[in-house]
Amino acid sequence: MRKRRVLITGGAGFLGSHLCERMLAEGYEVVCMDNLITGELGNVEHLFSEPEFHYERRDVTEYIHVVGDLFAVLHFASPASPIDYLQLPIQTLKVGSLGTHKTLGLARAKGCRYLLASTSECYGDPLVHPQSESYCGNVDPVGPRGVYDEAKRFAEAMTMAYGRFHGLETRIARIFNTYGPRMRLDDGRVLPTFMCQALRGEPLSVFGDGGQTRSFCYVDDLVEGIWRLLHSNERGPTNLGNPDEMTILEFAREVASVAEVELQVVHRELPEGDPRVRQPDISKARRLLGWEPKLDLRQGLQRTLGYFRERLGAAALA
Ligand code: UDP
Repeated sequence: MRKRRVLITGGAGFLGSHLCERMLAEGYEVVCMDNLITGELGNVEHLFSEPEFHYERRDVTEYIHVVGDLFAVLHFASPASPIDYLQLPIQTLKVGSLGTHKTLGLARAKGCRYLLASTSECYGDPLVHPQSESYCGNVDPVGPRGVYDEAKRFAEAMTMAYGRFHGLETRIARIFNTYGPRMRLDDGRVLPTFMCQALRGEPLSVFGDGGQTRSFCYVDDLVEGIWRLLHSNERGPTNLGNPDEMTILEFAREVASVAEVELQVVHRELPEGDPRVRQPDISKARRLLGWEPKLDLRQGLQRTLGYFRERLGAAALA
């Protein structure tokens, strides 16, 4: 019997590469596309020897072509950290809009399923807490984060339109803060930044007073949620994330403790538009997918620490 194939855009990125591994492990053939503007070949090089894995360097905002049948297109390509999308504002807008259009068009041509990697940023700086899927958000279209937030909101609208108008089997994952091995050391997000600082014995750079909240989901838990959503019948947006909310100062304390260093903090200016609170309401994912995160923060941080230690060691030797 022929294996089922999937296309994963952004497959050499942090989430995309974990998803490539999972789909291969589940017996799928994987076509991984990435233009490597924020992805890294090193994230998937170990898969090159697998006969069922195919990598193509490609910008998915341009015409894309895949030979043969597909079971699903999973659109994960996008700069995804605040400093990345501030440095790549046009590419971020293009991959969320043109890239979503192109990948939806491909899924339609193949008559296959489509899963959009959307984001908690659709809720902006939320006025409702925790955020459930019915909340429409509080987004500033012209603020610095607007390039990402509005691109993803457009992507959701486009995905729903292809579902409603063309009858495409679409899925939308609203992904909240996720962490784990393969995050870029310099992506500016709080976890890589704090881990690197802790391992170098530097103070942790807490933005603002550190009272803003987030909740952090370990990558394997997130991938399990994506897997279940892909195979479900749910077409509306579905939150995936860890509801264990904490302040950034509390998070700094956890990172320092797992790295076994004394907590030192230096406060920096809070970036414009930084959401004050964020916590997913995952009742829908619990109900429809029977999904919830399994790993607590300490276990997840311990698993992640080794990766950062190794990468920092390699960077020091280079
Ligand atoms: N943050 C911080 N220090 C850093 C990087 C980030 O205090 O060096 C804060 C940031 O202000 C935000 C939270 O950590 O409130 C999460 O930031 P991140 O960039 O990881 O993702 P976001 O959730 O804002 O998209």
